[in-house]
Amino acid sequence: MSLRFEHESFAQRVVFAAGEAAAKVAQEVMRLGATSVMLIASKSEADLARRVSRGIPVTLRFDDVVMHVPVEVAERARAAATGHRVDVIVSAGGGSTTGLAKAIALTTGLPIIAVPTTYAGSEATNVWGLTEGAQKTTGVDPRVLPRAVVYDAALTVSLPVPMSVASGLNAVAHCVDSMWAPRTDPINQAMAAEGIRALRLGLPALVDDPAGLLGREQTLYGAYLSAVAFASSGSGLHHKICHVLGGKYNLPHAQTHAIVLPQVLALNGPSAPDAERRLAAAFDSERAIDGLQDLRMRLDAPRALRDIGFTEADVPAAAAAILPTVPADNPTAVTTEILERLLRAAWDGADPR
Ligand code: NAD
Repeated sequence: MSLRFEHESFAQRVVFAAGEAAAKVAQEVMRLGATSVMLIASKSEADLARRVSRGIPVTLRFDDVVMHVPVEVAERARAAATGHRVDVIVSAGGGSTTGLAKAIALTTGLPIIAVPTTYAGSEATNVWGLTEGAQKTTGVDPRVLPRAVVYDAALTVSLPVPMSVASGLNAVAHCVDSMWAPRTDPINQAMAAEGIRALRLGLPALVDDPAGLLGREQTLYGAYLSAVAFASSGSGLHHKICHVLGGKYNLPHAQTHAIVLPQVLALNGPSAPDAERRLAAAFDSERAIDGLQDLRMRLDAPRALRDIGFTEADVPAAAAAILPTVPADNPTAVTTEILERLLRAAWDGADPR
């Protein structure tokens, strides 16, 4: 097969150093020549922020973090950053915290050093998100890509196992969707496949030994690769569906991804033989869907949208909202009926095999 594609790599320093976040963050602040830090972490992430910020000059602490970044919160944070004349943002927390840092960088151009404490992967993408009422808007801007990411698996040890599993499956979803997303290419696919390999080994190890670092380190590594692949390939059908569900029904991000993924893989896999072959190999399984479902079972993954606030009566309106967002080159042609069937199966937690 001939190779014709255009791939863009993003410039970002990536540091893996379990147990050494404070020293590595201080090193990154110095590299940027920054002297006045805005430290962002939610109230429940305060202890993580303290562990990360021991060696840096913090001028401003901001802990008003809300999932999906409401515009009013972003505006308050931007005003605080400008008022305190900070010259770098350090974010310590999950995707919501990273998301607020990105919202500030979007309008101020301030550089971000991100210290992720979940497996959401936002730190490795140039994608921002803001919500106004029930309307979630996302966009792409080079200013929001963190200049440096410090991955310290010790900071993820406190993430409860069910949240770790949901978040890790959010990363698996980035990998799977990267295989057929609009700008997929062999480089994204190689990273996504290596991401799945790391996640399918890391997540069971994490569940068996939540206080240990080995499983959590592999999971972070997989999460990073998944996000790089996702940022480069763009949103495929899976992300389009979860975007609508998260924004319109305020469903929890990671759990929604974990539940919807098998339904999308079962729909697209048979129409995308190359993706199916790569995914099956990455899962070390005969069929990709078997690899994913075996992993989900092993992890006791979230099962049904009905358990997280979505109702069967929501299905028609959700399908109607998703249909216009479906990528034109999705491997399987998608209709309202197909979306309704898929959403009903996700609502019910049916095994699509
Ligand atoms: P989150 O950031 O909302 O965190 C979930 C919960 O876990 C929070 O209560 C948080 O305080 C807590 N938490 C975080 N780290 C912890 C730790 N180590 N120990 C104990 N508790 C901890 O959830 P998330 O799934 O990480 O992020 C979801 C958000 O990120 C969504 O808004 C989503 O849209 C966004 N996101 C964006 C991108 C992107 O590329 N822009 C990618 C992925 C996710």
